[in-house]
Amino acid sequence: MKDLTSIKGVGDSFAKKLRQGGYKSVTHIVNANAKNLQADTNIPLPIATRIIKEAQILNTHKGSKKYVVGVDMGGTKILAATITEDGTILSRAKTATKAHKNPTKVIDRIADCINKAIEQASLSKNNIQSIGIGAPGPLNPQDGVIIFAPNLNWYNVPLKKELEDRLEIPTFLDNDVNVGTMGEFKHGAGQGVNSLVGIFVGTGIGGGIILNGELFHGANKTAGEIGHIIVKADGPKCNCGNSGCLEAISSRTAITKQIRKAVLTQGKKSHILELNDGNLNSIRSGTLAKAISKSDKVTIKVMQRAAKYLGIGIASVVNFLNPEMIILGGGVVEALDNKFIERIRKFAAEYALPNTMDGVEIVTAKLGDDAGVIGASVLAHHNFDNNLLS
Ligand SMILES: [Zn+2]
Repeated sequence: MKDLTSIKGVGDSFAKKLRQGGYKSVTHIVNANAKNLQADTNIPLPIATRIIKEAQILNTHKGSKKYVVGVDMGGTKILAATITEDGTILSRAKTATKAHKNPTKVIDRIADCINKAIEQASLSKNNIQSIGIGAPGPLNPQDGVIIFAPNLNWYNVPLKKELEDRLEIPTFLDNDVNVGTMGEFKHGAGQGVNSLVGIFVGTGIGGGIILNGELFHGANKTAGEIGHIIVKADGPKCNCGNSGCLEAISSRTAITKQIRKAVLTQGKKSHILELNDGNLNSIRSGTLAKAISKSDKVTIKVMQRAAKYLGIGIASVVNFLNPEMIILGGGVVEALDNKFIERIRKFAAEYALPNTMDGVEIVTAKLGDDAGVIGASVLAHHNFDNNLLS
């Protein structure tokens, strides 16, 4: 779908005037004469001239240029990579987010990091078709505004616009889970299927939905909140205020809480305390993996429970949506060995309706640490092709 509002400075009202004047796509505007455009649309001449120039800037970034920059933006670090259309990483750059600084300074750092990645690939800005960014949400992917990012202390930050002002490259934004799901869909475990659900288990649990090859965002752009489906009525309290959400049982935060209770309150013996440097306030995914490999009973029991409820959650997803594939990713999943993944599959099959699970694959993510930047590159290519070109 082409979208005139992708041209910098063109909002809904200008887009309407342009359409009424017969300028239906970016291509029409690139080839227009400013005076004719003014006469056809009643848009004042200086603005008409500006719109044509912006359309041309947008247009030079299409077609032959297949390189994009994928950005993985987190609360502590920003990763940027120059990536080809087939998902090959040409260069990488990394910088600290310094989230305590104001948004303008952080956005400057993101722009610098992107420039560094482009330079390190021996390319220039003109070679870059578009930029994709995965960022913590909630955010509005359409206008590229981060509505609220608690770990950055950001409210209503127009990240897309700010970066386009700085770099003059079309930029697209989506939440990190959706971006991770897109990466797996295009270049990871989900290649070759049309519908899938990505479930990422870390400090929280997030989900991304791909239907017929497209991300599904939902009416309020909140689709995929798998962490808050209720798997155990009256179960543990969740941060969202409900009880018994999947996230309240199977996220790393919940796992940590259960292990802490077993070790510190109930006095159960466990290796986990020494493995995690004597503190159980937060347990790294790598520590969970080490404890499992040492056959630590407390950790294994808590993780078995987490796996069971993940399976039950997946059964609901499969009953309801019947995707071709479920992809499991994130630090906690990476810490699980095959026995746990089997356990997830077992409970999913047990709780799903007869036949609904037939042929539905439950697999682990493939892209690992690169999922963020590769997914962001897929977002960039995909949105550029679908939104900007006629
Ligand atoms: Zn919840």
